[in-house]
Amino acid sequence: MRAILALALAVLGLLSFAGPVQAEAPPVLLRHVNVVPMDRERVLPDRSVLVVDGRIAAIGRRIEAPAGARVIDGRGRYLMPGLADMHVHSASALDMQVLLANGVTTVLNMGGASSAFVDQVVPAINGSRRPGPHIYLALRVDGTPRYGQLVVATPAQARAVVDLAKTNGYDFIKVYNDLAPEVFAAFVEEGRRLGVPVVGHGVTSVGVAGQLAAGQLMIAHLEEYLYTFFFPPDADVGTRAPEESQIAEAVAATRRAGAFVTADLGTYATIARQWGRPEATAAYRRDPQWALLDPAWRLAWRRSGYETREGSLEDRLRFLGRFARALQEAGVPLIAGTDTPTIPGLYPGASLRNDLHALREAGFTPFEALATATRNAGAFIARAHPGTTCFGTVAVGCRADLILLAGNPLEDLRALETPEGVMIGGVWRDAAALRALLDEVAAAYRAIVAGPTPAAD
Ligand SMILES: [Zn+2]
Repeated sequence: MRAILALALAVLGLLSFAGPVQAEAPPVLLRHVNVVPMDRERVLPDRSVLVVDGRIAAIGRRIEAPAGARVIDGRGRYLMPGLADMHVHSASALDMQVLLANGVTTVLNMGGASSAFVDQVVPAINGSRRPGPHIYLALRVDGTPRYGQLVVATPAQARAVVDLAKTNGYDFIKVYNDLAPEVFAAFVEEGRRLGVPVVGHGVTSVGVAGQLAAGQLMIAHLEEYLYTFFFPPDADVGTRAPEESQIAEAVAATRRAGAFVTADLGTYATIARQWGRPEATAAYRRDPQWALLDPAWRLAWRRSGYETREGSLEDRLRFLGRFARALQEAGVPLIAGTDTPTIPGLYPGASLRNDLHALREAGFTPFEALATATRNAGAFIARAHPGTTCFGTVAVGCRADLILLAGNPLEDLRALETPEGVMIGGVWRDAAALRALLDEVAAAYRAIVAGPTPAAD
C-alpha cells in the first residue's frame, strides 16, 4: 500500500508544474491583504493571492477561491516574500525549523554540513516532506588543513571535486583562504563548465581583485576586502581601518565583475560588540533563544574566545558600513548572509533581522535592507542557476515563499519579529503552528541537556 502511495505521489510530482511541492497541499487563497511585492518599493493594498502547488498562481483584487482551497483573511496585514539568509552554517533539521518559524524561507549553507544533512535532510525539506526553508548548499574547499576544511591541492583534484559536488547536490563551491592560484582557477573554470559557480572568501594567493576578475560570483563577507584588497595579503595591520579614499576602487572592481556581495554588517557588528567584552557573551546565554540553540553550538559559543581579544573593531565596522553604502549606491547587488550560528549571539533567524538593522544603521532604507534578504537573493540564485523557479518577490509563477506580518516592513523592520504566518512548499503555517515548531526544538534539546537552566547559567 505504502509503495503504491509513494508511486502515485511520484507520478503526481512528475506531472505537477511546480518544483518542490507537497502534492497533497490544497490551494491557499489569502484575501484582503496588503502585498509588499519587493519588485520595487510599493504596497499593493487589499489584494488576493492564490497559491497552487507551492507557486503563486494569481494576484488580483478579487479572486474566487477554487474548490477545496484554504482561505485566509489577511485584512490589515502585510504579505511579503519570505526572507533569505544566504550564509548559514546551520545544518540540522531542528535548526531549519527555527529558521522557518522566524520567516526564513531560503538559506544557503556555506559549509560544514554533514553527509546525513546533505543526503537526507536537504532532499526531505526541499521536497516539502519536512518543515524548513528551501536549502542551497556550498561545498567548502581550502588549500591547507589550517582551518579544518576539505583540502584540494591540485587543479586535477579541483576538477574532480566540482564533479563530485554536483553529483552530491551542491549548488556552489565555496573557496577558502589558502587555495593555490592554479587550484582556484581550476575551480572557477570547471565550476563554470558544470554549472557550480564559485563563491566565498578572499583567497590570499589570488586576492579579491583577481577573484572578481576571474569570475567569482559572490564575495562572502565584506571584510574579505580588508584582508586581500585594502591591505596587502598577510599584512600585520592589527584592527586598523583602511582609508575611505580606497573604497571607490573596490566598488568599481566589484561592479565591473558583476559580482554579488554579502555585506554581513550585522555579523561584523556582533563580533565587534563582544570583542574583549565577557559581559556581552554572558548576555547571549541569558537570551530566551538559548533554549533553541543546538547544544553543540552552545558549547562552541562558550569557547569562542572573542571576549578575550584586545583592541576594538569599531573603526573597521564604521568603514564597512560606508563601504556597504557605496556598493549599494553603485548598484552592486548585496545579499544578506549572517554566518549563523557560528558566532556567539547570532541566533538562527534573529541574526538575519540583526543584519537588516545593521544595514539600516549604515544608511539603507528599509526597502534597500529588505531587498538584500528577498529580491537580491532571488536574483543571485537566478544568475547562478538559470531556470530555477524564481523567489524573492511576490509575483505570479514564483515560489510561494511568503510571510504575513502585522505591520508594514517598509515602514519599520521590527514588523519582521513575529510573523503571523509563513507559507512554503504550498503549506501555510499560522502563528500557532510556527510556535509549535519552536516548542518541538526546545523540547528536543531539553530532553538531552542536563544541568542548570539558562537563566541560572
Ligand atoms: Zn561562513
